[in-house]
Amino acid sequence: MIYLDNAATTKVKKEVVDAMIPYFTEKFENPSSIYTPSREIAKDLQDAREYLAHTINADASEIYFTGSGSEADNWAIKGIAMAKKAKGRHIIISKIEHHAILESVKTLEKLGFEITYLNVDKDGLVDLEELENSIREDTILVSVMTANNEIGTIEPIKEIGAICHKHNCLFHTDAVQAYGVLDIDVKEDNIDLLSTSAHKINGPKGIGFLYVRKGLMISPLINGGNQEQGKRAGTTNSALIMGFKKAAELKFQTKDEDNKYILGLRDHLMDRVLKEIPYVRVNGSVEKRLPANMNFSFEFIEGEGMLLKLDALGICASSGSACTSGSLDPSHVLLAIGLPHAIAHGSLRLSIGKDNTLEEIDYVCDNLVKIISELRSMSPLYEDFVKKEGK
Ligand SMILES: *Cc1c(COP(=O)(O)O)cnc(C)c1O
Repeated sequence: MIYLDNAATTKVKKEVVDAMIPYFTEKFENPSSIYTPSREIAKDLQDAREYLAHTINADASEIYFTGSGSEADNWAIKGIAMAKKAKGRHIIISKIEHHAILESVKTLEKLGFEITYLNVDKDGLVDLEELENSIREDTILVSVMTANNEIGTIEPIKEIGAICHKHNCLFHTDAVQAYGVLDIDVKEDNIDLLSTSAHKINGPKGIGFLYVRKGLMISPLINGGNQEQGKRAGTTNSALIMGFKKAAELKFQTKDEDNKYILGLRDHLMDRVLKEIPYVRVNGSVEKRLPANMNFSFEFIEGEGMLLKLDALGICASSGSACTSGSLDPSHVLLAIGLPHAIAHGSLRLSIGKDNTLEEIDYVCDNLVKIISELRSMSPLYEDFVKKEGK
């Protein structure tokens, strides 16, 4: 099997599993209890919180563990909306946000909040001038992702944060794809709230964190006990937090060399596909792009057919985001960068990981050339096109 869907999720490292197991077995006690074993676990969890905080130049008290990246996104949007609704009910997001953000603001729209959706250019970049012009007296929050999960485009978050602060509104960024890949400094980058998720960096599923700048008011997500400073109740999930810490440690230790290796594979993939397959385009910015992400659109191709043929060869890939595959609507991200429906339908996302090899990439390229040509040979649209072109 060749796994090229690391933007959907990643394999949990053995070291990460090993780091978690004791917290299911001998260290099972409730970390909130007062006896010695619990206090020891509480200390381990505090170390984890401090380590994770340090990776984004935050303080441990600014890290709130959540059950996922989606939960962190929901909380950031809804928690700020509830806490700030006396100041205003206007929120700005980009058109290419993850569904966790898009659906959260839709819920708020039904409650009387007003949402502005920022356009992106053909590379998927937001326009800073449009952002600045969209901010109003009653704007309480701007949410723009650090990097996009479908096309890999890296947004100018530091500049976005600066504009937000100049106009006295808060800035949230969904950094789920960027965390552990790009350097993020919440202070330098003018970030008030930031979402992450462990399973995108070889950690376990079901754990993420929301960074909330000190002193900032956010409504609690879950009422109950005083876990997560009384804002997200529920017995602390020691094992997943320790797994998250281990995954982050491993990721940050080798971040630069991993990025370089992955980028080498990505560029090889891009070069071969562009050279060997006609009528293809790269989606997303070529320069401002996550190293692991590749997204192509092949004209005269149905994405589903392509994915099934790849799957038959043991190649795992995606046509859009994991959440949208299975639905027939083209991805909102591809439409936002201006792709016509027909071309958006022929899209393929390959997201590379440290475990992939050059041989695997070559195998994928060899087969992609064949698959595309086979599928096109069955396409009446392609036949007409070829006739018209006189080829
Ligand atoms: C995966 C992802 C999420 C959701 O994270 P989960 O932990 O799977 O809920 C949110 N935003 C982006 C950009 C993602 O890639």
